[in-house]
Amino acid sequence: MPISLQRRWRPSKVIDLRTTGQEPGTCQKCGRHDLRFVHLIEHPDDGSMQVGCECAARLCYGYDPKATESKLRNLWARRSRWLTRNWNTSRNGNDTLTFKHQGETIRVTVYRAKFGGFGCCVTVGRESFFLPGKFATTDEAKLTAFDRLAEALEW
Ligand SMILES: [Zn+2]
Repeated sequence: MPISLQRRWRPSKVIDLRTTGQEPGTCQKCGRHDLRFVHLIEHPDDGSMQVGCECAARLCYGYDPKATESKLRNLWARRSRWLTRNWNTSRNGNDTLTFKHQGETIRVTVYRAKFGGFGCCVTVGRESFFLPGKFATTDEAKLTAFDRLAEALEW
C-alpha cells in the first residue's frame, strides 16, 4: 500500500437506533433515511458525522460496518430474550438469575429497595457489584444488569 499523508475518517461508535427508539436514522452523507444502524465517524479536520453502512465502508479505510452491525443485531436478540430466561424467586422474594460464564458463576439479584423501587446486584464469583441508582420496575433493573454484563463480558 502506498504511503499517504491524507488524514482519514475513522469510525468511533455504532448505534442501534432500535434500542434508543429513534429508528429510522438518516445518513448525513448521502441522505439515505431508512437506517436502523448509524455509524458515527470522525475526521481530524472535518469533524464528525453519522452515516449508514455503505458510506461508512466507503469513507473509513479498512472498516467493516456490516460485521459491527451483525454483532449488535445478535446482542439485541439476546437482550430481548433476557427477561424470559430462567429467573427464579429467592426465599426473600427477590428475582434471581444464575448462569455460568467461562467457568465463573454469575448471579443477578433484583431486590426491593428501602424507600420504593428496585435495586440490583450482580455477583461474579465472590465479588458483588451493586448497580448504582434505583429502578422503577424489575424489568428495568434486569435490562440495566444485562447492559452492564454485555459491556463487561464483551457479548
Ligand atoms: Zn450514506
